[in-house]
Amino acid sequence: MSDHLQPETLALHTGIHRSQFNEHSEAMYLTSSFVFDSAAQAAARFSGNEPGNIYSRFTNPTVTAFEERLAMLEGAEACIATSSGMSAILACVMGLLSAGDHIVASRSLFGATVNLFNNILKRFNIDTTYVSATDINSWQAAIQPNTKLFFLETPSNPLTEVSDITELSKVAKKAGIWLAVDNCFCTPILQKPLELGADIVIHSATKYLDGQGRVLGGAVLGKRDLLMDGGIYGFLRTAGPTLSAFNAWVILKGLETLKIRVEAHSANALQMAQWLESQPNVMRVFYPGLMSHPQHELAKHQQKSGGGIVTFEVKGGREAAWRVIDSARLISITANLGDAKSTLTHPATTTHARISQEARDAAGISDGLLRIAVGLEAVQDLQADLARGLS
Ligand SMILES: *Cc1c(COP(=O)(O)O)cnc(C)c1O
Repeated sequence: MSDHLQPETLALHTGIHRSQFNEHSEAMYLTSSFVFDSAAQAAARFSGNEPGNIYSRFTNPTVTAFEERLAMLEGAEACIATSSGMSAILACVMGLLSAGDHIVASRSLFGATVNLFNNILKRFNIDTTYVSATDINSWQAAIQPNTKLFFLETPSNPLTEVSDITELSKVAKKAGIWLAVDNCFCTPILQKPLELGADIVIHSATKYLDGQGRVLGGAVLGKRDLLMDGGIYGFLRTAGPTLSAFNAWVILKGLETLKIRVEAHSANALQMAQWLESQPNVMRVFYPGLMSHPQHELAKHQQKSGGGIVTFEVKGGREAAWRVIDSARLISITANLGDAKSTLTHPATTTHARISQEARDAAGISDGLLRIAVGLEAVQDLQADLARGLS
C-alpha cells in the first residue's frame, strides 16, 4: 500500500499488526519466547520452513513493527533493530568483515565509533584508515586490496562536514566496497542515503527517532540479502545485542512525530546558527544550512534542510567554552542529542576526550568548540540562555 504515501503518513500507518483485540495504538509484546501449537510446528519454525516468532533474541512482534516502519521511511528493503546505535555499527562490521579486512572511514566520526574501530576491531586484525570527510580523492587513495567498507557520518559530529554520498558511492561501487552511512543527524526525513547510492544506513535510534531522550536503540538498514544473508542478522541473533520490545515500542511511537519534530528542530537550528554568527565572541559557526558553510551547496541538494545540530567556536578556548555551558540555565549540560530539550556539549572534554589530542587537532575539534543540539523550545529563550555566557 505504501509506495506512494508521504513520510508523515508512513510513520503512522506502517508496521501495524493488530492483535485479536483490534487495538488502535500498537500493542507491546513483552515476552521472551513464543508458544508453538505442536512439536511439528516448533520444528518447522526452527528449520525456517514456517515463518513466525520463536524467541525475542531472534524476532519480536513489537521490534518487527519498528523495523518495518523505519524501513519504509528510509526506503530500505530490510531493517534490523539493535540495542543501541553502537551495537548497530558493531553488528554491521561483525556481520560483513573478517580478520584481515580494512575499513576506510571519515576522520570526523562519533567518538565511540572511533574507539570501536581503533581499540576493539584492531585487536581482531581489522584496520581502519581515516580520511577527510569531504575530499573524495583521499577515499580513493586509501583503498587497499583488502578494503571492504567505507564508513561515514554526514553531517559529521561535531563539525557538520557534509560528505557527498552519491560521489563516494560511485568510488565504492567501482572498487567493490560497501558504503555505510550513519544517518543519525539527518534521519530519513532530511536525507535518504540508500537512494543516493549507499549500501547500508546506520541509526542511533536513541537520538531523533525516539526524540525525547527516553531509551537506547539502533538500526541497520539496506538490501535484504546483504542484511539477512550477509551475516548482520546472524551476528545479532547469535550474539544478542537485540532491541528490547519496550524500547522498540517507545521508538515506534516516536517515529509517528518524527517529521514535524525534525522540521521544527531544523528551523530552530537555522535561527540559532544565524544569531550565533552575529555574536562578537563567536569566531565561527558550523551549520550546513548557513551560506558560510563550505559544503552549503552540496547540503542543499543532499538534505532537505540543515538539521538540528549547530557547532560554534568561541573566543578564549576551553575556559570561555565552559563559561557558556555553566551559565546556561535552560539548556541541559549533556552529551546526548536529538532530544526535544536542547543540549550543550564541549566535545573536546566529553564526547571526543578519549581520542588523542593529535587526532582531535586533525579533526578540527578545538578547545573553544561547543555543540548545541537545538531542541523544540522557543528560539528567543535559547538565545537568552547562551547570551549570558557569551557576553
Ligand atoms: C549517539 C551516536 C551513535 C551511537 O549511538 P548510541 O545509541 O549511543 O549507541 C552513533 N553515531 C552517532 C552519529 C551518534 O550521534
